[in-house]
Amino acid sequence: MSLRKLLNLRNTLAFRLTLWYAGIFTVSSCVAFFLFYTLIAGVIRDRTDQELLGQVNRFSTLLAEEGTEAVENGVVIEAQAAGVKKVFFRLLHLNGQVFSSTNVSYWKDIGIDRTAIEQLLQGRGAVFETIVIPGRKDKVRILYAMLSPAIIVQLGQAMESYSRFLDAFKGIFIATMTFLIIVAAGVGWFMAKRAVSGVEAVTRTAQKISGGSLQERVPVKPRGDEIDQLATTFNHMLDRIQILLTEIKEMSDNIAHDLRSPITRIRGVAEVVLTTGASLVEYEGMAASTIEECDRLLDMINTMLLISKTESGVDKLSREEVDIAGLVRDACELFAPVAEDKRVSLSCHVPGKSLLSGDKRMIQRMLSNILDNAVKYTPSGGRVEVSVSENEKQDIVVSVQDTGAGISKADLPRIFERFYRCDQSRSQAGTGLGLSLARAIARAHGGDITVVSSPNQGSTFTIILPKPTSS
Ligand code: ADP
Repeated sequence: MSLRKLLNLRNTLAFRLTLWYAGIFTVSSCVAFFLFYTLIAGVIRDRTDQELLGQVNRFSTLLAEEGTEAVENGVVIEAQAAGVKKVFFRLLHLNGQVFSSTNVSYWKDIGIDRTAIEQLLQGRGAVFETIVIPGRKDKVRILYAMLSPAIIVQLGQAMESYSRFLDAFKGIFIATMTFLIIVAAGVGWFMAKRAVSGVEAVTRTAQKISGGSLQERVPVKPRGDEIDQLATTFNHMLDRIQILLTEIKEMSDNIAHDLRSPITRIRGVAEVVLTTGASLVEYEGMAASTIEECDRLLDMINTMLLISKTESGVDKLSREEVDIAGLVRDACELFAPVAEDKRVSLSCHVPGKSLLSGDKRMIQRMLSNILDNAVKYTPSGGRVEVSVSENEKQDIVVSVQDTGAGISKADLPRIFERFYRCDQSRSQAGTGLGLSLARAIARAHGGDITVVSSPNQGSTFTIILPKPTSS
């Protein structure tokens, strides 16, 4: 692994998780070791203290039974038997004056502790001390105790077993901790790698996508953990982006197509007029058809802009009290002559009034788009029925039902998309923007438009407009 890779590794989440894991594991192990050490050290010290107290008791009995001389001889024999480098005795008067001792040449660094003697004189049964002599391995445990009301004994013992335990403990500690830290780092690395492997999969997919392949998806395991939820959300987001991109592509294709036809027509007419050395009348005709085509183009562009503005809410709706029933009646009257020409029966069932706060011109445009479609896509002899009512939530419901061409299941979810036109409607005039605008207007008013349709039987468009709740 190169140095650069190693340095990069330092910044990875897996590395930091491993460090945390190994760190916490090491600290907890150290705490456990320390507690264990304190416990065992305490037990060893207590055992030493018991031994020292046992000896004091023995010599105290000896003093009572056989006198001071017997004790003086006894401590010398005891010290020689144990080893003069392991045990020493000093017998003291109450003023701390030494009157007898074993061979203390090895122990000359240890003096008499006045405070301990004072504590004894104040009535304490025994005073213990631990002394560290620089340069010597073993600590020394010292006991001051009253042998009789007039004699104090200072008894010292090298804490050999304590040092042995400490050495053994240090060895075990270093070996165990080294092993544990290596294991903890290994386990931590394994766990961290497993935990972030899902995130790495998401990153890899994101990299492939930025490389141009939007079909890629993150593999989702059936566990349903946080990483799987992240992967699922990421995949949903990608689905949505893909749909949006496809829609944008289709829309730009449609725009290009819809712009090309009128421009080609304008160019064709101009070319014919130019090449045939036309008269003034023909030039006038060309100008008229150019204006007509330009009006169609402008209408289309303006409608597109209006849809965008309405959807984004850039242009605030002008709110005023609108009588929906009245507007529907007016729209029916407007379309009655067209319907009559086509021999389509147009009937209108509306109540006297249906008031709502909204943008009158926008609502008019929405109603005429829906009504225009109903009449346009219903053949001669068909029926269009328009009604206004209220649902259980007091929303105003405008229903436009026709017995026309109907819409296939495949087309139904797409008819509200910009520029979408069902194949069978392409012979009819239209831009494919009417329903998009109508839905944008309904949604800007807090409502929506739904459609139920079956091919060759007809369609029902339902506009729902909620009345704003009075606060
Ligand atoms: P267009 O300008 O083509 O009418 P719209 O956005 O108004 O555009 O409608 C989109 C498509 O939905 C139409 O091309 C048509 O195929 C279909 N459509 C809309 N209304 C009806 C209807 N009442 N009956 C059958 N098809 C309809």
